[in-house]
Amino acid sequence: MKDEWRKKTKPLTLEGGIHMPYSWTVGRVGSRFFIELRDHGRILGNRCPQCQVVWVPPRLRCPECYVEIDDRSWTEVGPQGTLRHFTIVRYEHPAQPLKPPFAYGLIHLDGATRAITHLISGADLESLKPGIRVKPVMKPVRQGNILDISFFTPVGGPNP
Ligand SMILES: [Zn+2]
Repeated sequence: MKDEWRKKTKPLTLEGGIHMPYSWTVGRVGSRFFIELRDHGRILGNRCPQCQVVWVPPRLRCPECYVEIDDRSWTEVGPQGTLRHFTIVRYEHPAQPLKPPFAYGLIHLDGATRAITHLISGADLESLKPGIRVKPVMKPVRQGNILDISFFTPVGGPNP
């Protein structure tokens, strides 16, 4: 039999990765969010008409109560916010958008209900504390993605 070898030898597996370029639509809601960020440097969210949660990034449907969020619900948030949590990155990896050291932070933008995750840089990272105020640093030439915000940086002082 041609598969007789399987009775005598346990097959090995090899680990690897597949590089697969792809593109997909971000849809009507995602397009408006990224176009506004790219063209005007403004961060938009949308408010669920039922539970009043302000989603950033905006959603087509509320993940909490599943109702559709229509175009009347758009609202500008931030640009400043409060750093809720963070972790400092000290090792270098090709997939990282910044050269270490930098931090990943949970940032609660003014006017939003929930925090977003983004990069923290441009400051003494050892001075970061939950509760400090941060502001976005926009790229001068933006392309319509979340890294149009280069990173957030402290504006100083704890959140009152
Ligand atoms: Zn809702």
